[in-house]
Amino acid sequence: MDNQKRVFTFGNGHAEGRADMRNLLGGKGANLAEMNLIGIPVPPGFTITTEVCNEYYEIGREKVIALLSDEINKSLRLIEENTGMKFGDPEKPLLLSVRSGARASMPGMMDTILNLGLNDEVVEGLARKTNNPRFAYDAYRRFVQMYGDVVLELKPASKEEIDPFEAIIDQVKKEKGVKLDNELETEDLKRLVTLFKAAIIEHTGKRFPDDPMEQLWGAICAVFGSWMNERAILYRKMEGIPQEWGTAVTVMAMVFGNMGANSATGVCFSRDAATGEDIFNGEWLVNAQGEDVVAGIRTPQQITLEGSRRWAELQGFSEEERREKFPSMEEAMPEIYKELDALQTKLENHYRDMQDMEFTVQEGKLWFLQTRNGKRTGAAMVKIAMDLLQQGMIDEKTAIKRCEPLKLDELLHPVFNKKSLQEAKELTRGLPASPGAACGQIVFFADEAVKWHKDGHKVILVRIETSPEDLAGMAEAEGILTARGGMTSHAAVVARGMGKCCVSGAGAINVDYKKRIVEIDGLILKEGDYISLNGTNGSVYKGKIATQAAELSGDFAALMDLCAKYTRLKVRTNADTPQDAEVARRFGAVGIGLCRTEHMFFDNEKIVAMREMILADDIEGRRKALNKLLPYQKEDFKAIFKTMDGCPVNVRLLDPPLHEFVPHDKKGQAIMAEEMGVTPEYIKQRVDSLYEHNPMLGLRGCRLGNTYPEITQMQTRAILTAACELKKEGFDPHPEIMVPLIGILYEFEAQEKVIRQEAAAIFAEQGVEVEFKIGTMIEIPRAALTSNRIATRAEYFSFGTNDLTQMTFGYSRDDIATFLPIYLEKKILKVDPFQVLDRAGVGQLIQMSVEKGRSVRPSLKCGICGEHGGEPSSVHFCHEVGLDYVSCSPFRVPIARLAAAQAAVEE
Ligand code: ADP
Ligand code: MG
Ligand code: MG
Repeated sequence: MDNQKRVFTFGNGHAEGRADMRNLLGGKGANLAEMNLIGIPVPPGFTITTEVCNEYYEIGREKVIALLSDEINKSLRLIEENTGMKFGDPEKPLLLSVRSGARASMPGMMDTILNLGLNDEVVEGLARKTNNPRFAYDAYRRFVQMYGDVVLELKPASKEEIDPFEAIIDQVKKEKGVKLDNELETEDLKRLVTLFKAAIIEHTGKRFPDDPMEQLWGAICAVFGSWMNERAILYRKMEGIPQEWGTAVTVMAMVFGNMGANSATGVCFSRDAATGEDIFNGEWLVNAQGEDVVAGIRTPQQITLEGSRRWAELQGFSEEERREKFPSMEEAMPEIYKELDALQTKLENHYRDMQDMEFTVQEGKLWFLQTRNGKRTGAAMVKIAMDLLQQGMIDEKTAIKRCEPLKLDELLHPVFNKKSLQEAKELTRGLPASPGAACGQIVFFADEAVKWHKDGHKVILVRIETSPEDLAGMAEAEGILTARGGMTSHAAVVARGMGKCCVSGAGAINVDYKKRIVEIDGLILKEGDYISLNGTNGSVYKGKIATQAAELSGDFAALMDLCAKYTRLKVRTNADTPQDAEVARRFGAVGIGLCRTEHMFFDNEKIVAMREMILADDIEGRRKALNKLLPYQKEDFKAIFKTMDGCPVNVRLLDPPLHEFVPHDKKGQAIMAEEMGVTPEYIKQRVDSLYEHNPMLGLRGCRLGNTYPEITQMQTRAILTAACELKKEGFDPHPEIMVPLIGILYEFEAQEKVIRQEAAAIFAEQGVEVEFKIGTMIEIPRAALTSNRIATRAEYFSFGTNDLTQMTFGYSRDDIATFLPIYLEKKILKVDPFQVLDRAGVGQLIQMSVEKGRSVRPSLKCGICGEHGGEPSSVHFCHEVGLDYVSCSPFRVPIARLAAAQAAVEE
């Protein structure tokens, strides 16, 4: 046999494990060991490592049992010595619990078995020894039930049917004429055991094992087995927990909260997990065991008096009723409460974080069964970190590391009122494309959304999918629901940018634009009906659910200040409107990293002029239309520069393929024909001529400006005139003009020439000069490869990682829906490269490009824009390769600031 250590014991103030061994022992096992070491009362036991879980799946049950056998026998003897009991011995019956526990906490996802070691003989011994036959048979029936469910797998025949064991309990209660479990007497419990065993044989063909050792092996293997049960697999997928981590198994001596009136069990938190307030709280039940508190078999009571009073008020109980029926532990067991309070404080001080603990009181003696850093809301996360810092429990760097960037999202968007949510009816689920809560009346078309909004309605835009033309409607909607499209679909990207709630790809909804109805699972909803969306988990609800605006606390601001103290990487925002810029500035953005100009054209009047420009067949016609657009553009820029006064604003010249702007329908074409005084046939022919097989690789980016330099001229004029006018008014604009989609140095040089010529003319006209920079987007691999050439002219680089990813992988962003989900499923790709920057490929191009660029221009400013700028691990990468800034959508700014600070403090 090999000499690998697979089992780690603990008990009586000793332990072979420690808190920092959670990878090997699982969170539960590691913390049970640690609690022993710091003098918290914990029943003795041992933990089988997570590595054995992997062995279990590699070499199978029998070989694993053989490998473990010696160590387990030795460890069992140690528990027996510690407790003075003996496993399987009716005279001194030792009972065990067998518990799962992974590295990351997966509450309730895997199985646990309590009261193991009982059989017909041992139960009699337990009854004699405790002088409490009712207790002994209650433990026995619980054990047979759990073992039958978890190990022998007697499950309901279908999802409509109730649990077969519960059915038997109901039957016995009915015959007896009682309602509650604790009204059953010893004889009834005995009968339950017999009936349970019979049901197990009848339905599974398997016999309940009498031999305690056989029971133990069955339970250990079942816990390993539960690592691969459906809900555990799903949970891991959602939380991004790797399958290779495996679960540990902890076996420990039972303590009994169900031995009578001075026994109890409970769950408690050292601080409030929802709000973060520094208030000890929790729930308990007298004469109960294990999951009874959580399972809601009886109404659990509050641990503290204050909590109990608050709870009673919410429930509408009088103080008298409360004290009589639901007393707090503080009142009912004051001595033990004091000890519990002292130990919870000790644990929090030890771990220096909010603890979530399980305990049991056996005949007046308190035992701890579990502690872990508690899960919490985003708001609680920030408050707890800042409070711990203030209380001197953690230092500044730790406070920064304690906050999870993505969880800040929860703080920034409106949220559903919890109580209303409980009463709501969930219709279906889609992808949680953009977090937040929204409710409103259904509309199916963007223009309707605008109209309804104008008339004072709150609307939800429901679409099969969205396109750039829907932008205005999306902006006016409370939320967006689409039947198709993933997390990087148009609707999702735009909604996130707007900080707007969006559920995308809800496959179960059938939208009928003609009838203006949407069908969900047989239910028909019409235009004007109310629905509610939870963009944080993808739920769609019928009717209205009250929401409340998220409040940004002082703690949030304090955290952001703290981040600023440590960060090197600057955070800018992607903003196309003064409103977006304003929001981002409030969140601490120090500039605009990407101001797209195309969205500005989708306004009613502007789109007509824009279309005219595109459809014109000569330079004269184009100039005429561009002149119409100029004043609009100038005003747009003025408003943005003003909002961003004193900060750099990086404006990208026109980028998307022209066909995105022109009307493809008859009606739209007719309008344009009239506008331009030409025939509809002519318009149709022009529109058709814009057709491209591969628009993403077609006439777009700087290819537009190089084909039609008058567009670049007009945009330069709008940008710099706006800046000059503002400067004269006393503002301090810092425009940057960015040429998109460069592949060749000459493409850049040609555009630069147009810009500089126009700039000189404007400055002469205006009588002032404004300092400005001309840079480029690095988004074509060739540009990245030759960036030492490009940097000879370009003053800054902005890595457009959306396109750079698209072109490096050769994945069309608009077509990935057909294969990307499958690639992720099959693990050909670990993550979606459009969400998480691909370090190996795209990252290498970025790193190389920064180095080459700075080799010829040491002052070259480098930043990144695109979805990755607000994704924490990508922000880390940007810090590592020495970028100057990241730019992301306004609601991602705090996330990026936190991630940037974390990258700095972890360096
Ligand atoms: P989960 O990971 O789902 O919380 P646990 O392993 O913590 O599962 O077990 C569930 C419950 O069983 C716990 O709440 C605890 O109260 C109870 N329990 C576990 N081990 C023991 C034990 N040795 N003695 C008494 N109760 C136990
Ligand atoms: Mg637990
Ligand atoms: Mg691009």
